[in-house]
Amino acid sequence: MTHYVYQPGPVYLVRVPTGEDLLGYLDGFVSDNGIQSAWLSYLGAVSRASLRYYDQDQREYCDFHLHEHLEVLAGMGNVSLLDGAPFIHTHAVLADSRGRAYGGHVNYGCEVWALEVKIEQYEGEAPVRLFDERTGLSLWASPPV
Ligand code: ZN
Repeated sequence: MTHYVYQPGPVYLVRVPTGEDLLGYLDGFVSDNGIQSAWLSYLGAVSRASLRYYDQDQREYCDFHLHEHLEVLAGMGNVSLLDGAPFIHTHAVLADSRGRAYGGHVNYGCEVWALEVKIEQYEGEAPVRLFDERTGLSLWASPPV
């Protein structure tokens, strides 16, 4: 595994409507627009959050929920193919009313209050995720030669 090389494609600026599920809405957007390879970043606020932490010893995700209003200080992620379909992998740093930060792998259940997203699409064959024995995760496979 080394790396993929891409030429930039369209850049989308997306306002996610209030009340939408952050990950669910982005899933729909990339699917509707045929986006299979992209990098994304976002900021805004959520009314509640569901995040995950990957336990490297147990090789499983631990879910946790934040039942409060939070700023989305920084979110980033990417789009690649998993089992032939576009898959979004995204992490975010969130802050409470005192500026204390939480972070993790973004799960379904983050309710958007306001969110501005940049999606940078790439031209060419999308990266493909395959199960990786060592980590227990679906990671980018070696690019075709
Ligand atoms: Zn993750």
